[in-house]
Amino acid sequence: MARDPRYDPLFEPLAIGPVTAPNRFYQVPHCSGMGYQRPQMLAAMRGVKAEGGWGVVCTEYCSIHASSDETPYPSASLRDDDDVHNLRLMTEAVHAQGALAGVELWYGGHTSANLYSREISLDVASLPNQATLGIPGQSQAMAGTDIREFRDYHRDAARRALAADFDIVYVYGNHYYLLHNFLNPYFNQREDEYGGVAENRVRLLREVIEDVAEIVAGRCAVAVRYSIPTRFDKDPRGLIECFRHIAELPDLWDITVDDYNQEMGSSRFTAEAENQATVARLKRLTSKPVVAVGRFTSPDTMLSQINSGTQDFIGAARPSIADPFLPAKIDQGRLEDIRECIGCNVCYAHNSLGVPIRCTQNPGMGEEWRRGWHPETIETRHADESVLVVGSGPAGLEAARALGQRGYRVILAEAREELGGRINLESRLPGLAQYARVRDWRLGQLRRMANVDIYPHNRIDADTVFELESQHVVIATGARWRSDGVGGWNNSPFIGWEQDEVIGVEQILNGYLPEGRVVIYDDDHYYLGTAIALLLAANGNPVTLVSPAESIARWSHFTEEHLPTMKALIEAGVELLGARGLAGFERGVVQLECVFSGNESQLAADRLIPISARVADDALWLALDRRRDEFEQRGLLSLQRIGDCRAPGIVAAAVYAGHKAARELGREKDEFKRDRVIV
Ligand code: ADP
Ligand code: SF4
Repeated sequence: MARDPRYDPLFEPLAIGPVTAPNRFYQVPHCSGMGYQRPQMLAAMRGVKAEGGWGVVCTEYCSIHASSDETPYPSASLRDDDDVHNLRLMTEAVHAQGALAGVELWYGGHTSANLYSREISLDVASLPNQATLGIPGQSQAMAGTDIREFRDYHRDAARRALAADFDIVYVYGNHYYLLHNFLNPYFNQREDEYGGVAENRVRLLREVIEDVAEIVAGRCAVAVRYSIPTRFDKDPRGLIECFRHIAELPDLWDITVDDYNQEMGSSRFTAEAENQATVARLKRLTSKPVVAVGRFTSPDTMLSQINSGTQDFIGAARPSIADPFLPAKIDQGRLEDIRECIGCNVCYAHNSLGVPIRCTQNPGMGEEWRRGWHPETIETRHADESVLVVGSGPAGLEAARALGQRGYRVILAEAREELGGRINLESRLPGLAQYARVRDWRLGQLRRMANVDIYPHNRIDADTVFELESQHVVIATGARWRSDGVGGWNNSPFIGWEQDEVIGVEQILNGYLPEGRVVIYDDDHYYLGTAIALLLAANGNPVTLVSPAESIARWSHFTEEHLPTMKALIEAGVELLGARGLAGFERGVVQLECVFSGNESQLAADRLIPISARVADDALWLALDRRRDEFEQRGLLSLQRIGDCRAPGIVAAAVYAGHKAARELGREKDEFKRDRVIV
């Protein structure tokens, strides 16, 4: 298929200073959880993006000195010749596909705790450490000699960037790292030539841009990452005024808004292209090309950015993670094949956990090197055999899709009328509509495969499995939420759990809306408890959300959803109560227990919704497992269970399980290579 000529503007080359990007698809620097510790994984992952058509592919933030160390978050680094050697793997992989490679020089300041290096962080002032782990301690205020050394760190790193063959070198002026903190008058109260008026506050950023430009001397472009106020007209930090002083200095501006929760906002709270009106206003202040992100997955939205002059490049982190081949698919007129990011931020969460990123939509993300998985291609079937997949949740859908792609004859059976498993139920909750993309992309692919037959409304039992005579059976029958409170906090059911006033999560997910005052007890700690709280608050129920954790929905800290979730709950009038375990529910009174002291307290409630653990729906697998001695006679060669019916987990885990099962059918298990230092 050919590209729709309407999209031609997305494929026009554009100069960035001395280098030229082959098109407008620009993978901005984004964390990968790989960094300097996993250079082979990093190179392969970035190389695949270039292969998928991204015209510019950048590294994640790249430490330039031991005193900028965010361990356990795995940054890249450009501190010595070994780093140059390792990063050359990445530039070679990117150049091999005709794309430009960018590197982001990073100095953290008060955000880096230097837990590994034990060095002192420099910053504009002695600021309390703001590392996510909340380390007690402060940075050292920079004296004049420190400023000279700091500039030298950048010069040295720029030399190494050249040696590693990068085409674009970033000066990093946002995200509350050191250079940004000089701009910020709340942090910068210096009385020397680097403090006071905007011209002084921007001085260090200007000097570093000039230093880097002097070193690279036209052999590569200089980009600056810079944040602007989320609302252009409300600029208490004077970021726009600072910008005006350096607007023409770099070769490219990479613009973000000054609110990280919005810049990489989850789809629960932030729409595609949410910040672009602000970006458009900034672009009028410079003649240099501008790139900005906006979780762009719609080709028409991308096109309108270019045509309206809002920005020159389509910046992407998450859309390029969910679909490394997004540009190629637009180019080839295969828009229906684009695997759209759902905005869940599970990718980011894993960097925050100090491990390689993964993706809910793209099970191959992070597996390019260590398992050799390519996001678009897959080994063809090992034999002309058929596979029965039971259950059409994320695990079953992905298994059926990838098995269909391999060329097997596939039967996908689902008990319910609607395909999609948990996705159908959860995507109806407030803010979770984009989770439906997990189902819709896979169904779209499956429906175009002649070798896949789909049978909704078909509950399968062990006898039916044998009657269908498939050689391979994959059980993906999911899990059900418990309603007895057993989970991380409660080892046994709470007193009174069998009453009618106790409402199971499954009832809510299937559309039941209770009346009266509701207490939600959330021992799941992710999005479900808060989404149900928002649903019921919108329904008019007085709602109290109780958690045995100190922090409500604590896992959403990792996905950067915590702050907007709390804001939404408070605005909706939901009462929040942390550090309380559930002890019982009798005669309209919920008994709670303080997790620290054991002190008891009570809450009045008409209904209680306990959200705790899930029970694997593994009855079919167990029934078949008991009849293994019949397999040979019935021609059944393999049986496996995947996803939540094996071990309940997040949607990303189920998609991954489905993909892995499909990849490995009829083959040796994929080798799991470890990227590590070998002495
Ligand atoms: P996962 O996240 O592991 O994919 P889900 O709970 O989302 O799991 O999906 C499991 C699906 O399996 C549900 O749609 C459920 O209706 C379906 N299912 C469960 N048991 C059977 C069965 N015996 N036959 C067919 N479908 C089943
Ligand atoms: Fe998008 Fe979620 Fe994948 Fe991240 S993990 S790229 S937010 S779908």
